[in-house]
Amino acid sequence: MTGTRGAAPRVLVVEDEPVLSGTVKTYLERAGMSASTCGDGLSALERIRTASPDVVVLDLGLPGLDGVEVCRRLRTFSDCYVMMLTARAEEADTLLGLTAGADDYMTKPFSPRELVARIQVLLRRPRTGGTGAPAEEVHRVGGLVLEPSSRRVEVDGAPVELTRTEFDLLQALVEQPGRVLSRRRLIDAVWGEGWGGDDHLVDVHIAHVRRKLGDDPSCPRFVHTVRGVGYRMERPR
Ligand code: CA
Repeated sequence: MTGTRGAAPRVLVVEDEPVLSGTVKTYLERAGMSASTCGDGLSALERIRTASPDVVVLDLGLPGLDGVEVCRRLRTFSDCYVMMLTARAEEADTLLGLTAGADDYMTKPFSPRELVARIQVLLRRPRTGGTGAPAEEVHRVGGLVLEPSSRRVEVDGAPVELTRTEFDLLQALVEQPGRVLSRRRLIDAVWGEGWGGDDHLVDVHIAHVRRKLGDDPSCPRFVHTVRGVGYRMERPR
């Protein structure tokens, strides 16, 4: 886990346009965060490894290693929050960013104020679950085990590595087995109320959770899609 030791949250801004990264840094610092910048993917990975930032703001278009590849690689050793920036509005690109394990994304041009607000939402997210269940509880559904206190997930005895967002989503579902949770309800539980992103983000993260759990959406053991509404966790037997 990354940690702030009670100090200001540390944010690394990875962006090759110095004017933009400078502006973002200024806004983050005004909001009381400790920000630094980096202009390319390889040095970003090195910085993330040595400095363990709490949040990485990651531009998709970088020289050399692009943002998606940086995100993929950092996910092998870090669970920091990743906010992806993309210059292209096409869904494919933004989805690609999320496929690599980003927590949220913004399309350029964006308001630095909104970026700061979204980062604050990520940082405010409850670490022990969004619905107030006791942290020491262990949830079991079929072969799925989820332990909030250690943020451990297992399927049929094998550990499953989830990002923070994926874990929080799964936890929100597993805490209310058998109950249909709307996308909005899941967003409130995971990203917090008043989050400005779109509902589609939930579908993308759920798809990753399913893939990692080995759960077939057409014949689910764990996460059921309720058309037009949201998702439902299988009841424990
Ligand atoms: Ca760029």
